[in-house]
Amino acid sequence: MTEHTTCLIAGGGPAGMMLGLLLARAGVAVTVLEKHDDFLRDFRGDTVHPSTVRLLDELGLGERFAALPQSALDRVAFPLGGGRVVTVADFRRLPGPYRHIAMVPQWDLLDLLASAAGEEAAFTLRTGTEVTGLLREGGRVVGARYRGPGGEGEIRADLTVACDGRGSLVRREAGLVPREFPVGIDAWWFRLPGASEHVTALTPRVGLGRFLVVIPREDFLQVAYIGRKGTDRELRARGVEAFRADVAELLPELPDQVGALESMDQVKHLDVRLNRLRRWHTDGLLCIGDAAHAMSPIGGVGINLAVQDAVAAATLLAGPLRAGRADAGALARVRRRRLLPTVVVQLLQRVMEKLLAQPMIQGRRLGPPRPVLALVEHLPFLTAVPARLIGLGLRSEHAPGFARRRPARSPRAGGTDPAPGP
Ligand SMILES: Cc1cc2nc3c(=O)[nH]c(=O)nc-3n(C[C@H](O)[C@H](O)[C@H](O)COP(=O)(O)OP(=O)(O)OC[C@H]3O[C@@H](n4cnc5c(N)ncnc54)[C@H](O)[C@@H]3O)c2cc1C
Repeated sequence: MTEHTTCLIAGGGPAGMMLGLLLARAGVAVTVLEKHDDFLRDFRGDTVHPSTVRLLDELGLGERFAALPQSALDRVAFPLGGGRVVTVADFRRLPGPYRHIAMVPQWDLLDLLASAAGEEAAFTLRTGTEVTGLLREGGRVVGARYRGPGGEGEIRADLTVACDGRGSLVRREAGLVPREFPVGIDAWWFRLPGASEHVTALTPRVGLGRFLVVIPREDFLQVAYIGRKGTDRELRARGVEAFRADVAELLPELPDQVGALESMDQVKHLDVRLNRLRRWHTDGLLCIGDAAHAMSPIGGVGINLAVQDAVAAATLLAGPLRAGRADAGALARVRRRRLLPTVVVQLLQRVMEKLLAQPMIQGRRLGPPRPVLALVEHLPFLTAVPARLIGLGLRSEHAPGFARRRPARSPRAGGTDPAPGP
């Protein structure tokens, strides 16, 4: 049986759910196919940046977002030894009411978007439904094949959007191949139980050839261990005891918590990729989010860039989709709008990896270069620059007028109304 929708979205991650919500609010019939049964997937980052918090407020979702379990991260600081700590990125210096990164479980954010989108008549979400291929007619993509709880099927669509992440099947099927940039690091994520009075801000810890970042959460610590690319097998072969010893060396004040790490199965490997498509569209198909550009975890910007892509796509395409004219020109405008912010952040991530992460995991340095630390220590206003690049990005998108709902006041908004959109 072949069904029809106006916009078919493959993948219900941050990009897909935000795009679905916005287009549905514009009255565009939209169907999201998500292969998982729910959003309770593996850990995939929990950072919701000020640009996204502001957007949620503009969408009238500020209060619902504020009610989610979350902790606030207002700066990134490096210990210098002897109790001295130097702040390198200070989100409290950002303009506007949102001056922290909200650490919110990604599944809670996705549930919130799904529930808001579910209030729109034009929106359909099908979970447990995996896109398995594309439908083509005369070279144009006209929808997708899927496998779902009821078996296999086809959906025809005026536009298909690949939001299926860094390993995008849709992108591959469309013959789009991203350009890969060299990456020398991988990340391993795990949790340590309980909160700690020793770790109350995002805390990088560096030892010779070892480097980790601890992110305090309400009742646990989220840890990212950064190491040399391609060493996952080696790390696992050494076993959990050796890994615990590495971690304990960097977190000597948390022996019980580190001791609670029982198995390498609790340690999730992130094969860090940094890539970008040259062209984000073909006839009838557009790629956004990780499907268009996988980001390094440096700065934790992947979720927020995916959301920003979705806002730009909805802003530029809702009108053409309603008029049945989402042609190549309209699709190309999405990439043009999002290219500069993406390129700049990826460039910064590459520089940060080279200057910061690589020397630390190679044991050549125990923190950021001394001159950089001295500079931000003496000129603290400079910490606003990385805060702005991480927290707001270069071109942070506002909710389009058609998607805005009553101007909700978030408790964090300090009584300021959201900025007007385009
Ligand atoms: C371990 C880890 C830690 C991370 N930490 C952070 C962080 O701290 N901060 C941050 O900003 N980013 C982080 N990221 C990156 C972040 O998760 C992504 O950049 C972001 O989620 C991209 O959003 P997206 O919607 O483009 O893709 P994704 O979030 O990858 O969503 C893709 C969706 O498509 C679905 N899907 C895939 N294939 C199909 C198919 N064939 N059919 C149907 N559905 C399909 C998937 O199930 C998924 O739900 C992390 C990633 C990982 C893996």
